[in-house]
Amino acid sequence: MEAEKLEFFNPKVPLDFQYNNRVGIGIERYLRGLGERKILGSKCPQCGKVAVPPRTVCGKCSATMGEFVEVSQEGTLENFTVGHVQLVKGQRLEKAESPYVVGLVRLDGVDSLLLARISGVDPSDLKVGMRVKAVWRDEVQGDYADLDHFQPA
Ligand SMILES: [Zn+2]
Repeated sequence: MEAEKLEFFNPKVPLDFQYNNRVGIGIERYLRGLGERKILGSKCPQCGKVAVPPRTVCGKCSATMGEFVEVSQEGTLENFTVGHVQLVKGQRLEKAESPYVVGLVRLDGVDSLLLARISGVDPSDLKVGMRVKAVWRDEVQGDYADLDHFQPA
């Protein structure tokens, strides 16, 4: 007896999920601040350290950081890297159209570093320690992309 040939039904099912995550009070306040072109941090009531984006627990002394403070939109470029490839659709790397810069910015009066895109300057002119300022996108809506990049001050 000949074995029955099985054919499997393999439908392609596109899965498109929408997630609604609670980001926590600190990030929620941070995003609301960005929607008003403000950069908010949290301040430790015990040691006075200021963190951006806001944290709920101080990284230095572990106290609860419940106070939100508006911080400066200018700071110092503490480090940077120049990218030549980009991730496309979260799947593959391709050569970027032009080099781009990602840097760590220490805003004035803030103790933490903020990872941000650096633009408006030739990468070869960048120097650690240079002054930079925030540049907002034209229409803000309360998300991370509102703070578009930093450029030399
Ligand atoms: Zn502290």
